Amino acid sequence: MSEQTTGSFPSAVTTEDFVRNIAQVKARIAAAAKRAGRRPDEVRLLPVSKTVPEERLRLAVAAGCDVLGENKVQEALRKSREMADLGVSWSIIGHLQTNKAKDVAAFASEFQALDNLRAAEALDRRLQAAGRSLDVFVQVNTSAEESKYGLPPDEVPSFLARLPQYGALRVKGLMTLALFTSDIDRVRECFVLLRTIRDRARQDAPDGIGLDELSMGMSGDFETAIEEGATVVRVGQAIFGARRTTDGLYWPPASPPAPGPGGGR
Ligand SMILES: *Cc1c(COP(=O)(O)O)cnc(C)c1O
Repeated sequence: MSEQTTGSFPSAVTTEDFVRNIAQVKARIAAAAKRAGRRPDEVRLLPVSKTVPEERLRLAVAAGCDVLGENKVQEALRKSREMADLGVSWSIIGHLQTNKAKDVAAFASEFQALDNLRAAEALDRRLQAAGRSLDVFVQVNTSAEESKYGLPPDEVPSFLARLPQYGALRVKGLMTLALFTSDIDRVRECFVLLRTIRDRARQDAPDGIGLDELSMGMSGDFETAIEEGATVVRVGQAIFGARRTTDGLYWPPASPPAPGPGGGR
């Protein structure tokens, strides 16, 4: 509980802790939606459970989580096996190495980080073979940080135009990670950019390519994301408690140091 953002995210260790944390996050989601003139039910809460061990995940499920988001395929696959008795759905929200497409096709219900055609191809082939389909979000790099995954904004329309050939992928919308900074105005710019890209892409998106969804916002910034149109917020620490593992293990190497005092978000 000593690192960066940890102080405000106490660890949830009982079902009651989870019930309380989830209720608090949902209340904040509802308030942010109302401020923006939106209905609270327009925003889906995706609890992000990376690094959290099975015992505590079971408590979160008992508290009502029926979909869990994981950044790494291997970790998600392991947990999905450990918890196969619970009927949880798994959303993969991190970069996919093509050689893991088989695993994702086998157990995930959603993939939020599609940013290259090789992955689309590999997923589609595995899904077709398994007779399954998968909800996908196209990840966009809205922060212009080289260390981030995601398509550059100007490549989104041509990328979307290629996706109808992958019939097992149900494209739902766009996903982004905002800039790592405590400067909320700069974070907001990333969210505005994702919405703008979506609105433009919609005009000539191919049939069958859905762009209703915007997955943006995390524990430190989900209210801002909702004000800018998020339909999915990916919230880990505000539900599960602070992560001890540094996020460098979950994102590409060498994230630039966050500008401004405090750093974390
Ligand atoms: C970990 C993670 C989140 C959630 O971050 P928190 O700070 O725990 O809310 C959201 N999106 C992605 C892609 C993540 O890897």
